[in-house]
Order: sequence, then structure tokens, then C-alpha cells
Amino acid sequence: MAYYKTAGIVLRRTNLGEADRIVTFITPEFGKLRAVARGVRRIKSRLAGHLELFGEVQLMLATGRSLDVITSARLERSAEAISGDYGRLSASYLFAEMIDRLAGEGHPQPQLYDCARSSYAELVGRGADGLLELWFKLRLASVLGYRPHLDSCTLCREQAGEEYWFSCEAGGIVCRSCSTTRRPLSPNQIKLWRLLLDHPLEPVRRVQGAAAAAAASLAVCDEFYDYTFGKRFKSSQLL
Ligand SMILES: [Zn+2]
Repeated sequence: MAYYKTAGIVLRRTNLGEADRIVTFITPEFGKLRAVARGVRRIKSRLAGHLELFGEVQLMLATGRSLDVITSARLERSAEAISGDYGRLSASYLFAEMIDRLAGEGHPQPQLYDCARSSYAELVGRGADGLLELWFKLRLASVLGYRPHLDSCTLCREQAGEEYWFSCEAGGIVCRSCSTTRRPLSPNQIKLWRLLLDHPLEPVRRVQGAAAAAAASLAVCDEFYDYTFGKRFKSSQLL
């Protein structure tokens, strides 16, 4: 049996048998990782307090026949602040569901892990809002290889000044003559999306009008996900 270590964030937990659980993590080295926590539902379990939902943990695992087995876990950052707050909780479930359904298994995904880690740190420290949700969604799309094109018309590369629409099919903004849909993205919203893709969230929060521009353009980002991944993710802001 081989042992290995990794950091991880708990995305999901499913009961298995009488006392075990299958825990799904996002990790930097192995992408999405599913492993068994044996006996974790027993009162005396040493693992139990360390594998809380959305917590950040250091893990030791042993390779198993079908699933690997968690031999030890140390909680690095608790997600306790999330559990008592409805807004934080619904954003946490949404982020976890999106990562769980879109992340690959068995190969390194350090950028995806960083995206998850900083988003959950925000949720624990500050709470949920539309700006964080848009930041998470744009970054996740970007690390999965679907960064929206926002510099010029995606189709003809024309710089169209102030007038742009968003095309899910083209994967970015398009000018009036290339546009086939009525999904406008204002200059402020385009600017905000660029900032969110290239900067940490904290400085973007200080940009005037950022919260309003995020709230007004979140639905466009959701449509982009529906189209690109063929999966419908609810917006936590609408729950
Ligand atoms: Zn064009």
C-alpha cells in the first residue's frame, strides 16, 4: 500500500455503510479526489472533527483498490462561519457543485484549487455577495480553458468602441454587426469582468459601481455556463 499527502477542500460527503463516508475534495495535485473516511461517523473517530464540509484540510491517504483511504486529516481552516449563514451556505453549495461537476480527476489543477481556496476564504471571512459569485464563476471558467474574450469583437476583432453584446456561442463580446442575440454588456460591465479575471477580489471591491455592475451581468455569465458546459447552475443570489 502506498501513502501520499495532499491539501484539499471538502466539497461533498456521502454516507457509506454504517460508519464510513466518501469525501470529495478539490486538491492542487490530483484535481478532484474521492476518498473513503473509515469509521468517521463513530463518536470516537479521530477524523470526524477534521473533515467538515467546505473546510481546508491536510490529508494523508493510502491507495486503495477502488477508492483511496484517508489515514489522517488535519483541519487547516474551519468553515464553521459558513454554516450559520444562509447566504454563505447557498454560495458554498453552489461553488462546490460547480467544481465537483466541472473539475477533472487524477491530474494537477493548482489554479482551480487556488480559485476554490480563495473563494472559500472570502466566504468564511467576509460572506457571500454577487461580486464574489461573479469573480468565482469567471475565474473557474478561465482555469477550465474558457476565459471569455473581452478585448475586441470575438468574431471580427473590430474595436467597436462602447457598444458590445455578449455571445455565448463565440465565447466573448461581439460588435453590433456580428451580434445575433440581444445580450448587451455595457462598457462598465466589460471593464469589471476584465478586472475580475486578472486581479484579486479585494482591490476590485474598491472600484466604484463594481457591485451594481456584477449584479447586472451575473445572468449573462450564467447563460455562458449553460451554453458552454450544457449544465444549469442556479445563481446563489436568486435562491
Ligand atoms: Zn464583429
